[in-house]
Amino acid sequence: MNQFSTIREIQECLAIMAGEGRSIGFVPTMGALHQGHISLLMRSRMENDITVCSIFVNPTQFNNPADLKKYPRSLTQDAKLLMECGCDILFAPDVPEIYPEGESHEVDVDFGILDKVMEGKFRPGHFRGVAMVVNRLFTIVNPTRAYFGKKDFQQLAVILHMVNALKLPVKIIACETVREADGLAMSSRNMRLTIAERNLAPVIYQVLLKMRERSGKIPVRELKEWAIKKIHEHPGLRVEYLEICDKASLFPMGNWFQRKRSMALIAVFLGDIRLIDNIELFL
Ligand code: AMP
Repeated sequence: MNQFSTIREIQECLAIMAGEGRSIGFVPTMGALHQGHISLLMRSRMENDITVCSIFVNPTQFNNPADLKKYPRSLTQDAKLLMECGCDILFAPDVPEIYPEGESHEVDVDFGILDKVMEGKFRPGHFRGVAMVVNRLFTIVNPTRAYFGKKDFQQLAVILHMVNALKLPVKIIACETVREADGLAMSSRNMRLTIAERNLAPVIYQVLLKMRERSGKIPVRELKEWAIKKIHEHPGLRVEYLEICDKASLFPMGNWFQRKRSMALIAVFLGDIRLIDNIELFL
C-alpha cells in the first residue's frame, strides 16, 4: 500500500497507476476505522481497479470544537488495517494541505432542506463542511466511484445532491450499515462509550426495529412519540431528534400515504456521546 500526505504525491502516483482507463474507487473516512469502513473498502476493491482510502478529520464539519478535539485518531493502526485489507493508496493529509490559508473551498450549492433538518438543525454548518471536504477530495482523487455508508443517511442525501448539482463525474455507491452483533451501528464514536453506556446503546436499534413493526398501524405522530418514550425509559439515553421522513427528499411525513418511501432517523445522546442511526420502515 502507498501512503501519502500531500496532494502532489498522491496525484503523481494516481497518474501512473490509473493510466489507461483504470477505475478508481474512493472511500473517504475520518479514521478510527472499524468493520463499517472496511465493508466500503471491500466493495470498492470488488468494483474497481484501484482503491483509495482517505483519512482526514475534517475541522469544517465540526460545529463543536470539543467534539473535534476528542475525535479518536489512530493513524498507525488504521494504516495497518487498510494494508491488511488490500487498500492500494492511503491519503492522510494534514489540515493546511486540504485548506491552504487564503483559499476558499466553499461549495456553491443550494441544498434546500437537506442540510437544514435533523443533523443540519442540531449541527449548524455540518453539511456545508462535509460537502466542502468531499468535493475537495473528489477533485484531488478524481474517483470513478465513491463509497458512502447509509449509517450517515442524511450525509448520503447531501452528497448525492451535490454530485447532481455540480455534475461531478463520479458515481456514488450507498452501502448498508454494518452493525455489532447486538445491533448497535458501528461508529468510531462507540469506542468512547463507558461500559454502562455501551450496554445501553443497542436500545436505539431495538426501538427502530419495533418502529418498523408498528409502521402503518398507528399514526406517524403516535409512533414517534411512542419510540421516544421507549428510549427515555432508559435513564442515560436522551433523544435529540427522531423523524420519519421521505427517504429521498427528507421531508417529514405526517401520514403513511407514501409508506414505501418512509425512513426513521434518530440521534441519541449517551452522556456526551451522540450516536445516530436510521431504518427503512417498509421493506
Ligand atoms: P466516518 O469516518 O465516520 O466519516 O465514516 C466514513 C464513511 O464510513 C462514511 O461514508 C460512513 O457513512 C461510513 N460508515 C461509518 N460507519 C458505518 C457503518 N457502521 N456501516 C457502514 N458504513 C459506515
